[in-house]
Amino acid sequence: MPEFRRADGRIDIKSLTLLEIEAALTGLGSERFRALQVYKWLWQRGVREFDEMTNVAKAVRASLAERFYIPFLDVVAVQKSIDGTHKFLWATEDGHRIESVMIPDDERNTLCVSSQVGCAMACTFCLTGDLGLRRHLKPSEIANQPLQVRQKLDEQARISNIVMMGMGEPLHNLDNLLPALEIYLDEQALNFSHRKITVSTVGLVPQLQKLAEALPVNLAVSLNATTEEQRRQVMPITRKYSMEALLAACRDLPLKHAKRITFEYVMMAGVNDSPADAVRLVKLMRGIKSKVNLIPYNENPDRPTIRRPADAVVKGFQHHLVTHGIQASVRVTRGRDISAACGQLGKADPDKARVDEDRIQAIRIRREGEGYDASRFAFDDIV
Ligand code: SAH
Repeated sequence: MPEFRRADGRIDIKSLTLLEIEAALTGLGSERFRALQVYKWLWQRGVREFDEMTNVAKAVRASLAERFYIPFLDVVAVQKSIDGTHKFLWATEDGHRIESVMIPDDERNTLCVSSQVGCAMACTFCLTGDLGLRRHLKPSEIANQPLQVRQKLDEQARISNIVMMGMGEPLHNLDNLLPALEIYLDEQALNFSHRKITVSTVGLVPQLQKLAEALPVNLAVSLNATTEEQRRQVMPITRKYSMEALLAACRDLPLKHAKRITFEYVMMAGVNDSPADAVRLVKLMRGIKSKVNLIPYNENPDRPTIRRPADAVVKGFQHHLVTHGIQASVRVTRGRDISAACGQLGKADPDKARVDEDRIQAIRIRREGEGYDASRFAFDDIV
């Protein structure tokens, strides 16, 4: 695991796994078991300073503070939708903006978490793609989103589910995603059940296989088309991993705990919502332990030609799937008034964005003063 070091030489301790913290503490001459205490302070109590770790010896706290720092996201804004959805706008240490969305419904409070600043996948219909990939998020930045939402919201709004469906392609950032998922799952850290965590992907085949082997989380694949040609048009990643290869991989994934793969299907009028598409989709699902989640397209002024199908079309499409033995649900649009709905993240209201830019500039200057080196976050483009 690479370390994430600030230019002042200190290491981001929340991007380390428990094992790595153990190794670090042994290096500092402290007992191994102290690492668990430190880890719990970081992830269960969410402390901001090493000095708050009162059961850790003062000398150890001091040497930890010399070598490490405890990162947090800065809260830029929390917007509340009329439907109860909350959008959290965060600034990273180097002044990028990322978003998390909390979606309450009758039984669940689902937090939609970002994995990258922007996204490299360039799906034609998705606004996050317009940003391009600015950088990957570090493990601490992925794991701080639920931690900090927990700290901000009161008990009755506890997060019950996490979906990696915010900005970015999580599997393009697998190296940082895996340690973050460990922190989600670890009972000594955020303590979520694997049943409550879903990773959503455009379908990066080798990474999908790696993830399925590594951890038992739920998988979701954004399919969005029923022919290769159609999918190439809306999801350029199909040129690298064909739909056929993707579905073959899905058929063979080592799914644990009787899990099913969720196939997300963004419905766009006249693009992929015809009866013939419904017929093809049933065939494509053959032999795969699957369920389908239909997402009626969220229209927006930046894609004036892409329209949401009429409700009757969505219902008819769902009906065809269900009557042919495919479990299929329709995703209810949430948080559209605050640009928090699917495909809208990264695209805040421009007036608000300007105010935010000023704040972010201020944060950036402050961070640079602390010696933060943004150039550490290089990435290799995958598309
Ligand atoms: N990159 C991952 C995680 C993002 S999930 C993935 O693609 O799965 C975001 C989901 O929103 C994806 O299923 C995507 O297809 C969908 N989406 C993007 N833009 C949308 C829009 N305007 N309306 C409805 N869904 C959209």
